[in-house]
Amino acid sequence: MRPNQTCWYCQKRTEVINFQCQTCNKIQKIKEANPYDIFDTEKTFILNFDDLEEKFLKLQSIFHPDKFVNADSNQKQISIAESAKINNAYNVLMNNVDRLKVLLDFYGFKQDDKEGKSFKDPDLLEEIMDLQSKCMSIEHENEKQKIKNEIKLQIGSLENEIEKNIKEKVFSKAQDLSIKLSYLEKIRKDLK
Ligand SMILES: [Zn+2]
Repeated sequence: MRPNQTCWYCQKRTEVINFQCQTCNKIQKIKEANPYDIFDTEKTFILNFDDLEEKFLKLQSIFHPDKFVNADSNQKQISIAESAKINNAYNVLMNNVDRLKVLLDFYGFKQDDKEGKSFKDPDLLEEIMDLQSKCMSIEHENEKQKIKNEIKLQIGSLENEIEKNIKEKVFSKAQDLSIKLSYLEKIRKDLK
């Protein structure tokens, strides 16, 4: 509930419940821009995805364009634009690498070019290349499962480390870990 907002249509300072003006009933835009704020979610790296999904579905049900087929063109436009905004914000928060970028941005940490940086860390590069060649030589489903579990564990421990670094505001460390994280995520995706 966001009381005392000015409605774009009736121009009244009015109570807005579930993004609906309580005076004229027209749908209102989402004011927030940061994906975390759109879902009214605490700015931590590790998220409760069940909670996020619930909020996503609720917002989608409010703004879904199907609900506005008979509405005026302004409301149609709002529903289309806000649905896209909600989808985009949800995808960003569901993606480890994108979510970390949003957090680092929020804390004002200037982020380096990742590709350039990874090559300055020969150990990481070697580790990733080993893993990639392991994946290329997979012959049996159980081998694949084993590697997938390994990657899952590695990503899990990276997530915990990143969360710790964000909490302690050691942003450069969090960014360094995101390089490894993005490689692992890519390999995980390719294995699917
Ligand atoms: Zn209104």
